[in-house]
Amino acid sequence: MDDRPGLVIVGSGLGGYGLARELRRRDAKMAITVVTADGGEAYTKPMLSAAFALGKDPAGLVQKSAAALAAELSLQVMTHHRVEAIHRDRRRLVLRRPDEGRGEIGYEKLVLALGADPRPYRVEGSAGAGLFTVNDLEDYRAWRAALRPGARLLLIGAGLIGCEFANDLATAGFAVTLVDPAPWPLGRLLPPELGAALAAALRGIGITLHLGRSVAAFAPGLARLDDGTEVAFDRGLSAIGLVPRTGLAAAAGLAVGRGILVDRLLRSSDPAIFALGDCAETEAGPLPFIAPLLAETKALAATLTGTDTPLTLPALPVVVKTPALPTVVCPPPPGADGHWRVEDAGGALTARFVGHDDSLLGFALCGPQAAAEARKLAATLPPLLS
Ligand SMILES: Cc1cc2nc3c(=O)[nH]c(=O)nc-3n(C[C@H](O)[C@H](O)[C@H](O)COP(=O)(O)OP(=O)(O)OC[C@H]3O[C@@H](n4cnc5c(N)ncnc54)[C@H](O)[C@@H]3O)c2cc1C
Repeated sequence: MDDRPGLVIVGSGLGGYGLARELRRRDAKMAITVVTADGGEAYTKPMLSAAFALGKDPAGLVQKSAAALAAELSLQVMTHHRVEAIHRDRRRLVLRRPDEGRGEIGYEKLVLALGADPRPYRVEGSAGAGLFTVNDLEDYRAWRAALRPGARLLLIGAGLIGCEFANDLATAGFAVTLVDPAPWPLGRLLPPELGAALAAALRGIGITLHLGRSVAAFAPGLARLDDGTEVAFDRGLSAIGLVPRTGLAAAAGLAVGRGILVDRLLRSSDPAIFALGDCAETEAGPLPFIAPLLAETKALAATLTGTDTPLTLPALPVVVKTPALPTVVCPPPPGADGHWRVEDAGGALTARFVGHDDSLLGFALCGPQAAAEARKLAATLPPLLS
């Protein structure tokens, strides 16, 4: 094991590899090691919930092997190595190796790009219900391997990821049932009019929606909803949210909140340790999306190569991959005071969230022009971090 002290990045997702790529653009010589618990294949995670539409199986989603990326970017990539502890006093990481033995490596600077864990769905019988969660390529491999043509699929959670999977799986010919306690899909992101339109579009491609309902209990192959409805299913997927991976950082004594707390330079409470992506909590809160992640990789690469660069973020619309009804959301800041104003222009729905002084604070759009319109509206919103 090469033990040169240099920059060590933990995690090979879009955060870890994205940072490595940005660093290489700026510095051809810096010693960079990527340590990752998984196989280190480079893939674009958002494609997981659109893979059928893209005509991709799990192997087709792999863009590069760890070895190819290591060669291209002159990295040392240690796959299937899980970091178990950070000894900040000695600047060393304790690793569990693929042979289950333990090892250590040193670091001069450390970047945590650890991602997040799916929130477990726990009700009576859930432990034996064989529920899947999909937050990475390995999860997706297992999920796809379990699908049989025409299977009845129960999806729990009609947030961004649940709606995207539901759309993709229904279009691929599966019998999809989607359950969520909110009265409409994307309940926290859309006002009722747009929620109703999305619900209608999802029903229109054959999805059975149980809204305002939760799964109260499971029996083998059966989910019982809180209104007594029984849903028979072959495979279940839970998509009820993600929890940033903070355990490693907390055990090492770093400050954590909802994520690993970082300042505008993405520096944790230890100046030698940085964090970005789904595991981090910036001044704007946890931001588990691609656009902030890309901004973070650029800013941090500049900082780590000698130019302190505080993170700045414009307003960040998120495109929801529901071809049944193209939708873009750009929610107002948490706790913002204001109300939704909805316009319907022949099926193209625009919802503006406006403050009391009539200023635009957020928006949501449904319809074929949503993505193009979102770019225009986003440009008029205040930045998330200026
Ligand atoms: C299905 C799906 C669809 C999505 N679609 C969109 C979209 O359309 N638009 C959008 O903006 N965002 C989307 N997102 C969110 C976006 O993909 C994520 O915010 C982003 O990919 C997170 O990247 P990351 O590098 O922070 O984490 P991850 O990609 O999760 O990477 C974490 C890495 O850390 C490693 N790791 C963790 N713990 C350890 C350890 N102890 N030791 C060693 N290695 C460790 C893991 O093995 C992994 O390599 C989607 C997410 C999902 C799940």
